[in-house]
Amino acid sequence: MGDGLVKQVAERLAGEVRAEDTAARLGGDEFVVLMTELAEDPEMALMETQIVVQKIQSAIARPFHIDGNELHVSISIGITLFPENSDVADDVLKQADIAMYKAKEQGRDTFQFYLPSMQLAASERLQMENDLRKAIHNGELSLHYQPQFSIDDRLMGAECLLRWLHPEEGMISQARFIPVAEDSGLILSIGEWVMRSACKQLRMWELEGRGGEINRLAINVSPKQFKQRDFVVMVSRIIEESGIDPSRVELELTEGMLLENVEETIDKMTQLKSIGISFAIDDFGTGYSSLSYLKRLPLDKLKIDQSFVRDIEKGDSGSAIVETIISMTHHLGLEVIAEGVETRGQLDFLKHSGCHHFQGYYFNRPLPVDEFEKELNESINPV
Ligand code: C2E
Ligand code: MG
Ligand code: MG
Repeated sequence: MGDGLVKQVAERLAGEVRAEDTAARLGGDEFVVLMTELAEDPEMALMETQIVVQKIQSAIARPFHIDGNELHVSISIGITLFPENSDVADDVLKQADIAMYKAKEQGRDTFQFYLPSMQLAASERLQMENDLRKAIHNGELSLHYQPQFSIDDRLMGAECLLRWLHPEEGMISQARFIPVAEDSGLILSIGEWVMRSACKQLRMWELEGRGGEINRLAINVSPKQFKQRDFVVMVSRIIEESGIDPSRVELELTEGMLLENVEETIDKMTQLKSIGISFAIDDFGTGYSSLSYLKRLPLDKLKIDQSFVRDIEKGDSGSAIVETIISMTHHLGLEVIAEGVETRGQLDFLKHSGCHHFQGYYFNRPLPVDEFEKELNESINPV
């Protein structure tokens, strides 16, 4: 029975690791998983490791059936990162072993990192994931709206930006929680919530008779979300349920996610475009899009990344990139918006270069809905 169990554990373990990983049995009931394709950034690598660890834990937690018996086993996992901690195979294994014994001391079914600092980062991340799981139901998420202006300083729309007000820790930065949401898959339900809330808000404004003032809301779409097979259905359904005109929704995609599976991407975008939704590429200029490729996508708008806008006043190359992007959009027949506009100088340069839409702290920060509405009133009845 022991041999049978070891075999089944091995099978489950091999089933949970990725194709590029190696799973092996060292002897007895000890296994090793070697993951060589992790992110360069140690923090990202740590996150990826943790995801595999969680998958292994839940695979092993399911009961085993051997000779008509149901067996439950626990697993203690020790983790080390290389080459950060060492690049000598023996040392790496020894570190993992030490970490595993630490895990055993902690009780059953736990994992430990070799370095205490990593353990801390890992448990903070886990905590965040658990808190985030509850955040939607507890109403801790909200949308802020950052106004977008046209060349004649008219407010023409807004971008919805997600905010998380943690009950104990206060506002959690997007830079911290969005990667966790993305990696854990929570971004799918969060993204759906964002989409639904944004559409509801548009409908509400429409019912209050201010539909015309906010032409359009831009909604950020995460790569994982867009990759979902039922993305088109999900978006169409939410828009239909909300009762708004789909042409008031603009989806912001990033270059990376478009490059991955071009035919499927074009197909999804075309379907959504046929009901009136428009598309912008966010953070444009930071990815690797080629011109020929851009031409194939049914795009409406490019959003110049704020890093280039920031460089405008710093010297020639920064402003040259901005000018190039703008003239490219004109040639391709696309709209263009600059994000992260902070100064009058940047705005003047952008206007002068032929950019027609703007968003940034120079005008407003992302605002909670009540403040955004105040801003709307003022833009219609300027003081
Ligand atoms: P993004 O979509 O590129 O959003 C623009 C970010 O720039 C926002 O940061 C905004 O607050 C900030 N920003 C706007 N104007 C200025 C400016 O003048 N100066 C500077 N320095 N920053 C400015 P935020 O809200 O922290 O969001 C960060 C990122 O998180 C977003 O980048 C987006 O990628 C992601 N994100 C935000 N909301 C959502 C969401 O609902 N879903 C998804 N998937 N991602 C989201
Ligand atoms: Mg955006
Ligand atoms: Mg951006």
